[in-house]
Amino acid sequence: MFKEWNIELNQFIILIIIGAVGGWTLGYPGIGVALVSVPYCLWMLVRTRDLARWLASDDKSDPPESSGLWGLIFDHLYQQNKTFKSQISNLHNIIIRAQQSTNAIQDAVVVVDPQGNLEWWNDAGKVLLGFQLKTDRGQPLTNLLRDPRFIRYFESRNYQRPLEIPSALQAGVFLQFQITVFGEGERLIVARDVTRVHNLEQMRQDFVANVSHELRTPLTVIKGYLETFMDSLQEDQPQLSRGLNRMNEQALRMEALVNDLLLLSRLETDRSTQVMKPVGVPNLLRRIFNDAQAMNDSKQHNITLEVNDDLDIKGDEEELRSAFSNLVINAIKYTPAGSNITLRWYDDENGVYMEVEDDGDGIDPKHLPRLTERFYRADQSRHSKTGGTGLGLAIVKHVLIHHQAKLEVFSELGEGCVFTCHFPRKNLVATTRQSVA
Ligand code: ADP
Repeated sequence: MFKEWNIELNQFIILIIIGAVGGWTLGYPGIGVALVSVPYCLWMLVRTRDLARWLASDDKSDPPESSGLWGLIFDHLYQQNKTFKSQISNLHNIIIRAQQSTNAIQDAVVVVDPQGNLEWWNDAGKVLLGFQLKTDRGQPLTNLLRDPRFIRYFESRNYQRPLEIPSALQAGVFLQFQITVFGEGERLIVARDVTRVHNLEQMRQDFVANVSHELRTPLTVIKGYLETFMDSLQEDQPQLSRGLNRMNEQALRMEALVNDLLLLSRLETDRSTQVMKPVGVPNLLRRIFNDAQAMNDSKQHNITLEVNDDLDIKGDEEELRSAFSNLVINAIKYTPAGSNITLRWYDDENGVYMEVEDDGDGIDPKHLPRLTERFYRADQSRHSKTGGTGLGLAIVKHVLIHHQAKLEVFSELGEGCVFTCHFPRKNLVATTRQSVA
């Protein structure tokens, strides 16, 4: 760069000297300098015009012919332009390949801007969601997908769980929506056809519900006869008495199992539109506490209750009673005699909590992730002594999902357990929310 610049400068100085000397021999050195400077400036202007023209032209493949400093400038600009073009072409290819691959996906992929307007979608977006390129680009997504469940989900900005709803376009088709936030508030929505899985799940739920329901009648008959036989037993028939008692125990266990299965089936059916009512949890917990004391004769646990009487939440009282009772009954069942069990109802800035803490044998942490699965037992040996249907914590989990709450479990072997039902603060009923906020 400096070499060309030096040559250009030297040429200019020589030109000035020639002009000055020529002018001086004629007695007008200034005019001599002016005579050589003006063409030089004109030449510079012509080169500048060539440069401007070349920069403004769409086709920059051939820069104007030039040498020296100007040639160098043109060459540099030409090289930079070439690199820039090849980068653009690479990016363009990447975009085309990304579009081709997303178009090959069977799932609808949709991008919306931070304001929730449609920016881009793949071919499956047309098929599954009916988006039209000409009319729908730039439209608010919630104008096009109008199911209130989708609008609630989209606007909640809480996308931890996917949403499953029927398709508005095709009867009998179910779509699962999963939203991911990226960039500066843009959202990527993936919608997939889950009709087959949905139907299978529906069949499973119906089957369990029907079988449980059908088992009720024979069970009632068996229990009825057992009670009659037990009532009419003679004292000199100890063997028969033992047998009938065992049969009665198992019939009661089966009844509990059937009832739990029916409750779970009811909880699994989507009742997101169900209206929640204010529940006086402190009184509910007092009733559960009294029931627990009544069950506590044989083990003589030390059970205590700590409640904040100002906290009521919106919910389904029967479901909450069932969930809280399951946790308390578990604490009574799975801890050695004389353990300390505490029931708590309190809040903090992150939510409202119903907690059952015990200082029993605890649960190995490796079991915790699977504890709410149906029929999962952390300790088979302990379980065989205590009975139980294996559905208690599954019921707790489903009840809490209904209440937009979650179950948190902390435990170590030998350190006892803490089961916490964590409700969002928005579940607090208005009067108490004001007084506790
Ligand atoms: P179950 O009907 O067997 O009680 P649950 O779903 O209520 O079924 O509980 C699942 C398993 O979790 C139990 O079998 C038991 O091993 C373990 N568990 C639950 N609560 C406690 C507790 N407080 N202490 C120790 N283990 C517990």
